[in-house]
Formats: sequence, structure tokens, C-alpha cells
Amino acid sequence: MKYNIAVIRGDGIGPEIVEEGIRALNAAAKRFGFTLAYRDVLMGGCAMDELGTPLPQDTISACKSSDAVLLGAVGGPKWETLPGHLRPEAGLLGIRSALGLYANLRPAVLFDPLKDACPLKPEIVSGGLDILMVRELTGGIYFGERGRKRGEHGEEAYDTERYSVMEVERIGRIGFEAARKRRRKITSVDKANVLESSRLWRETMHKLAKEYSDVAYDDMLVDNCAMQLVRNPARFDVVVTSNLFGDILSDEASMITGSIGMLPSASLGNGTLGLYEPIHGSAPDIAGTGAANPLATILSCAMLLRYSLNQPDAASAIERAVQQALEEGWRTADIAAGKPAVGTREMGDIVCRRIETA
Ligand code: NAD
Repeated sequence: MKYNIAVIRGDGIGPEIVEEGIRALNAAAKRFGFTLAYRDVLMGGCAMDELGTPLPQDTISACKSSDAVLLGAVGGPKWETLPGHLRPEAGLLGIRSALGLYANLRPAVLFDPLKDACPLKPEIVSGGLDILMVRELTGGIYFGERGRKRGEHGEEAYDTERYSVMEVERIGRIGFEAARKRRRKITSVDKANVLESSRLWRETMHKLAKEYSDVAYDDMLVDNCAMQLVRNPARFDVVVTSNLFGDILSDEASMITGSIGMLPSASLGNGTLGLYEPIHGSAPDIAGTGAANPLATILSCAMLLRYSLNQPDAASAIERAVQQALEEGWRTADIAAGKPAVGTREMGDIVCRRIETA
């Protein structure tokens, strides 16, 4: 088997962490007997510098014709004063929408060897923490009608939350299917006590829940969910929600794991093509120092193998290798809590060696 992967290294620490992701992928490919071909494409600030646009057409075409896309991170202070459509983040929104990636999957897992990094009291996370946040990515208020106008009290601004049954149903299915591969529990989060769009969301999810009677379903209001995540996170398995609520709740779920450098993500659409990236940004403050934690990117590569290339054994080997490295006490500076730390390359080496046997 041979697979094609488009690689967007991006800005800041992006190139350093992506390099370690590729080495982990190669180690897994070697062990499990498949071949990977990579094509580097530009997006973000570096694309702006070289080609005058954050998302060149060639990048979209290369991503569309690949089996999966691996992304580091984009952005940095150098491009922060550019107009919105020229900023690196425009590249991110643009590529997700060009590839029709409407579902963002973010696992928030508390690794046992890192449980001291969790900001919650030990008794709250004694039941473990393993949540999959499923966020709708191409609809809702981030893409609805917006504008400014003169109102009764002067200038006004508005943004519109809008969802169709089709949009809710397709993200709902991704959530239910994911729950079937996990602990068969799903929580749909909305604000149905106030918002009409949430009432349609809830009605649609209830219809869908009848099709998935093997999955335990419940609804939760977004304010309650924000509270339950820090009160009783072990009650959650899969959480499915809208673009806006998912943006906020997935950051909250990530932060209770204690380490932004550890968390992967996948963006998926209807086919098997997906975009895989760490949840953190380009960390300009440590770019070029060789100190970045590559584990979020390496774990994103495991998701790439599982969801886009259908190589679950290779994916599990990478995840076990990361777990082993942590159990043996290896840490990058961000998770070392002041103890001795290894750099980006060394952590990559440690994981790659364990992939051979994990
Ligand atoms: P950030 O995630 O880049 O950094 C926040 C803090 O976490 C920093 O102190 C950083 O050093 C640390 N950190 C992040 N990743 C790390 C890693 N792998 N290892 C060790 N430490 C790590 O967030 P920010 O500082 O708010 O944003 C920096 C730039 O990244 C901005 O331009 C922002 O727009 C961009 N950004 C991009 C993405 C993306 O590409 N998907 C996501 C978020 C932010």
C-alpha cells in the first residue's frame, strides 16, 4: 500500500514538530509494511511571504489529491497587522472549507504519568479523563450573516447563528459513529432553552439517536457542560456540539489535561480525506529553540493513520510508544514541571525507537 500525504509545515515551531511527526509516521510505515509519499505545500505566514497569499491554489489542489493532510501550525506576530483575509488564520479557515472538512475531533486525554499537570483536584479526575470533543466546523455563527448598521443607540454589530438539519445530522452521525468505537455514550450540547437554532439542533439529534439505540444519549445545556467538565469530567465520553460552543468547550477540555503540547486533532468530512494537526499554535516564543513538544503532532499522525489511511495497528503503535516514553519519565520542557527535559528531536527519537517494538 502506498499513500500520499500533503504536508503543511507552516510557521513558528510548525516545521520542527512536523519533522518529528513524519519520522514517527515513517517508523510506523516501516514496521507495518506500507509506504508514505510526502508533498510539501505552503500555507499561512510563510505562504504570504513567498506567494502573497496565505492559501495558494496549488496548496488546495495538492491537499485535495492526497490521502491525508498533516499540518504543523500557522501564524505569528509578523503577520498580525495584516488585513483579515491575508492573515495566516484565513488560510486555516480556507483549507478546511475547501476540503469540506465539517467535523473537528479533539480527544482530551489525561495521560496517567502526567496527572500532576491536571489543574483539577486529584479526586475529581480519579475516574480518569478521556473525552472526545466533536465540533461542527463549517457552519454556525462563524459563517453566518454578519454586519454593522446604525441603530437606535448608534453603531450596532451582529452575527447570525444558523444551522440546517443536514448540517446537524452529518456532524451528529460522526459523533454517534465515534461513540460506537469508544464507550458508546454521547452528550449533545446546545442552548435550546434560549436559541431557536439550538432547538432545531436538539430535535435533529433526537431523531438521530433513535437510529443509534446502542449508544446512550443525553442533552446538556452549554453552561451546564462548561461546569460539568470541571466538576465531573469522567461522566463524558463523546461530546458533540456546534462551532461556537465547540471552540470554547474543546479548549476547556484540553486545558484540564494540563498540557497543550500533548493534544492532537483531526478535521474530517464525508470521505476519508482528513486534516491532522496539534491543537496548539505556532508558539513563536519558543520557535527555533528546539524545545517544542512534538507529541501533539505525533499523536495527530496516529489519528491520520486511523481515520484516513485505515491503519489502526500502526496508529495504536504510535500511541503506545508515546505512552511508554511518558511512563519511562521522558519529558519536554512544557511538561517537565522544572525537572530535566529533552528537546524536540530527542523526544522524536525516543518515540520512534519505541514504535519499532510497541
Ligand atoms: P500557542 O498555542 O502558539 O502558544 C501558547 C503557549 O503554549 C506558548 O507559551 C507556547 O510556547 C506554548 N506551546 C504551544 N505549543 C507548544 C508545544 N508544542 N510545546 C511546548 N510549548 C508549546 O498560542 P498563541 O501564543 O496564542 O498563538 C501563537 C500564534 O499561533 C498566533 O499567531 C496564533 O494565531 C497562532 N495559532 C495557530 C493555530 C493553528 O495553526 N491551528 C492555533 C492557535 C493559534
